[in-house]
Amino acid sequence: MVNFTIQNVLIAVSDDYATVDVQIVDGAIAAIAPNLPVIGTVIDGKNKLLLPGFFNAHTHSSEMWQRGIMSVLPLELWLAELYDFAPLDTEQVYLSALGTAVETLLSGGTSVVDHLVLIPGLELETIAIATRAYREVGIRAFIAPLIQDESLSAGIPSGESVKTHEPYHRSTAATLEIIEEAVRQFHRPDEGVNILVAPTGIQLCTDALFAGCIELSDRYNLCRHSHLLETRAQEKLAQEKYGCTAVEHLKRIGFLSDRTTLAHCVWLNNADIDILAETQSTVVHNPLSNLRLGSGIAPILKYRQAGINVTFGCDGASSNDSQDLLEAIKIGSILHNVTDSDYQHWITPRQAVEMASFGGAKGLNLADKLGSLSVGKQADLVLYDLTNLSLLPRTDPIGLLVLGRPSNVVDSVWVNGKQIVADGKVTTINVDELRQELFNRSQWETKRKSQTVAQIEAHYRTVMGL
Ligand SMILES: [Zn+2]
Repeated sequence: MVNFTIQNVLIAVSDDYATVDVQIVDGAIAAIAPNLPVIGTVIDGKNKLLLPGFFNAHTHSSEMWQRGIMSVLPLELWLAELYDFAPLDTEQVYLSALGTAVETLLSGGTSVVDHLVLIPGLELETIAIATRAYREVGIRAFIAPLIQDESLSAGIPSGESVKTHEPYHRSTAATLEIIEEAVRQFHRPDEGVNILVAPTGIQLCTDALFAGCIELSDRYNLCRHSHLLETRAQEKLAQEKYGCTAVEHLKRIGFLSDRTTLAHCVWLNNADIDILAETQSTVVHNPLSNLRLGSGIAPILKYRQAGINVTFGCDGASSNDSQDLLEAIKIGSILHNVTDSDYQHWITPRQAVEMASFGGAKGLNLADKLGSLSVGKQADLVLYDLTNLSLLPRTDPIGLLVLGRPSNVVDSVWVNGKQIVADGKVTTINVDELRQELFNRSQWETKRKSQTVAQIEAHYRTVMGL
């Protein structure tokens, strides 16, 4: 492990900034103060801002292959198109995991929660290759294999009609066995690789699957992750399925906890909000994808006022269509200034930074180890170049970073004290080769037709009253 000292770097303190030295010893922050003795290598922090790394707290890496081409559709139809053209080769999963990691790092993230779509029949291979990609890059990885045990059409409310759905191609028990095997093979928190239990959501999962996930989470001390009430259709479906809200149901079956992160949370009522607060669940705000798919605007300021922990995610690149964490943080902050007139609750740039760093750590049950610049915490750090044109002229560095349109501002990144970005370049993998591979394995495309969308669209329109 390389020890180092960052000298004369700007850090945020209460409502001001200070110029300090930061010592990193054995992967952890050993001291923060002006004029410290040098330990190990010297890093020049002059005219640079040091922040704790952000969490890209919800994404689906393999969606990178379809970014830019997905039709303009709401989630339920969009998903049908997505799955009609999903990548089926593990080499693609490898490359898109690398790409997701690189884009996350270069926009301030040091951790990624990959709600990983599994290739049917190659489930463990998919998890293995994504793990390999994240280990090679060196980003802290939270791999949340996306599981369900109902077929896609079950995710749309039935309305008046009686609908039967094809059984899912894999049994609930077989799915749970895959997750348990993934935990045995790949869950190594000390090495920066974590497996999560991650049923995709109430829309496509039975209670048996949730129960199995809860049991694995308790037995192996795993965090829990799921989509929650992303769309109005899911709100309707929960009423059809359970006769209560999805949040009430998840509480009843015991899925909600202080290590449960819930992506989207757009369609919750006030009683649901109380339940999330009470169970100390974390909301992952994915503003770009909620806008892109017309899902709605999550009531984030209400969550914050209720004391719910909130952090940010890019969501998959097919509904974003990027993995720029700083962009998600910006939009996810200022979006609410139009929905909530009381400006005293609006999210400030400093609050946004805390949500993106500490909020992510807290949701993943790592608040004591990550998420802030504190002595004793692990060194997951990002150094921003304040002489970059997009961060000039010199005003408030965090204001410029969150509210501006920063480009190529990340100078260095460390994860667990290991440097993986230097001089604005990822040092662990060859990004030029990655670009070449992504280029070679794709083609310019404008027209493709999803057969599944054609099959289900009429029903979707009827049941949604369109
Ligand atoms: Zn998602």
